[in-house]
Amino acid sequence: MRRSLPTVDEFLQGILAANRVVLGQAITLVESARPEHQALAQEIIAQLLQFQSSISTQETLRIAVTGAPGVGKSTFIEALGMQLNEQGRKVAVLAIDPTSSVSKGSILGDKTRMERLSTSELAFIRPSPSGESLGGVARKTRETILLVEAAGYETVIVETVGVGQSEIAAHSMTDVFLLLLLPGAGDELQGIKRGIVEMADILAVNKADGDRVKLANQARAHYLNATHLLPSKPSGWLPKVLACSAEQGMGISEIWQTIQDFKMHTLANGFFHENRRQQAGYWLREALEAGLKNAFFAHPVVREKLAVIEPDVLAGRMSPFAAAESVLKFFLNRAKA
Ligand code: GDP
Repeated sequence: MRRSLPTVDEFLQGILAANRVVLGQAITLVESARPEHQALAQEIIAQLLQFQSSISTQETLRIAVTGAPGVGKSTFIEALGMQLNEQGRKVAVLAIDPTSSVSKGSILGDKTRMERLSTSELAFIRPSPSGESLGGVARKTRETILLVEAAGYETVIVETVGVGQSEIAAHSMTDVFLLLLLPGAGDELQGIKRGIVEMADILAVNKADGDRVKLANQARAHYLNATHLLPSKPSGWLPKVLACSAEQGMGISEIWQTIQDFKMHTLANGFFHENRRQQAGYWLREALEAGLKNAFFAHPVVREKLAVIEPDVLAGRMSPFAAAESVLKFFLNRAKA
């Protein structure tokens, strides 16, 4: 017999008491496609938001970490996470990896990552949700942030793969954006899109150890120059370029200090809160768009009309735009009736 799910109250109590099993179950609900799971997840989140409005947002920090595959993201996150744990800070590590849904082999990988951090009492690591679209994957991660924060993980790291759209999603749910780079190579060789460099608040050249120190310094100078040429940011923050060795634990404290500086800077000028407000608005519109789209295509009237009209479009007897217009009109008229 299947065990029944905990009630909303049991979920709330479990999450607020930082029960990891209950937290994991709640995230599974968020990730589930089943309507009854979604309904329960929404109820839990709605109730948690009531609690959360009483927690000061100044206590939480959401950090995006990105960079090309192999740059050292998991090594870095583990090093930073362990340092924060040593200071008594709780850290949650989430991920947005749309490749995990496209192909079986995800870029962030199924290999055992962050072995030390994953056994720490003060850390909670969750692999990327899967989903049919990046939007779906990202939305689940965004909701999971609320859950882990309610469970007291005041620092949340959102890891992405560094090769495209998932960075924009991570950027739209975090306070500070950290880009890891390799020693030496320029943008093209790093596999990093220019837009991603522009999003970064902090750039860190990793693997600055052994005989790579010189190359790391070159990369640092290159990116320092590049960031000076970028238009100024709405946060009023000038991106910082640092070097580190995640493997040897060097430069990690400096990066954490710079993250703190960024937070102080944006709290002082109001950007921190304004950015979170804008992000909430963005996700409201995203959720509406996704909901509308699903409702539209699932509607019997739309299915019926599409079944009739689509063959005409495919055969070139009707333009796709005229057909879309006609289906929309049909749907909106029915909705009014
Ligand atoms: P990810 O794909 O970005 O998550 O990269 P990983 O953290 O899995 O690291 C890729 C490889 O680079 C691994 O073999 C790491 O041991 C190595 N690596 C990571 N950080 C450093 C570093 O600071 N210095 C050196 N020399 N190697 C590193």
